[in-house]
Amino acid sequence: MPEYKLIACLECDLLHRQVPLAPGGEARCTRCGARLYRRASPDSNQRALALALAACILFIIANIYPIVGLEVQGTHTSSTLFGAVKSLWEEGARAVATLVFVTTFFVPAAELIGLIWVLVTLRRGARGWGTVPMLHFIESVKPWGMVEVFVLGVLVSLVKLAHVASVEPGVALFSFGALMAMVAAAAAAFDADAAWAQLETIR
Ligand SMILES: [Zn+2]
Repeated sequence: MPEYKLIACLECDLLHRQVPLAPGGEARCTRCGARLYRRASPDSNQRALALALAACILFIIANIYPIVGLEVQGTHTSSTLFGAVKSLWEEGARAVATLVFVTTFFVPAAELIGLIWVLVTLRRGARGWGTVPMLHFIESVKPWGMVEVFVLGVLVSLVKLAHVASVEPGVALFSFGALMAMVAAAAAAFDADAAWAQLETIR
């Protein structure tokens, strides 16, 4: 007699027998229609890796070039993300400086490096060092990456500043915008269930 794995619906607790799915398929609850599990298309995590690498390049550009240039009474100034964090720190707004640094630099960088690490290791078919803690880490750190909040904040300030100074959006601002989309796309393509399942078979 074949053995079935049971899976409970996360929304309504109805038990279902788990059946094998075709690649790219998903199983839904028969009572409430909530998604039970899915099987990624085979190239889903490869796509995630490509997107994460592209995001990495954008991340570097976003942090090297100025976010914005300002011209007030003939004086031109421009600042990178680090420059902005440093000024905030020096002006005594240390909590804000730390928050900007953590949510806009540290977390996105850690998440991208972690994701690439896990995907490259799985692609090589190896278990690799630190893959399991890294997968946990990626999932727990996700809510703290707020590049999109930062981009929105900068846009709002630019609109307000436009009255008092001539404002010139920098290369980094466009890179942050593209980075925002790329990180979201990589996260959407990344199939954590498939990664866990693959780790299970290597174990
Ligand atoms: Zn249900």
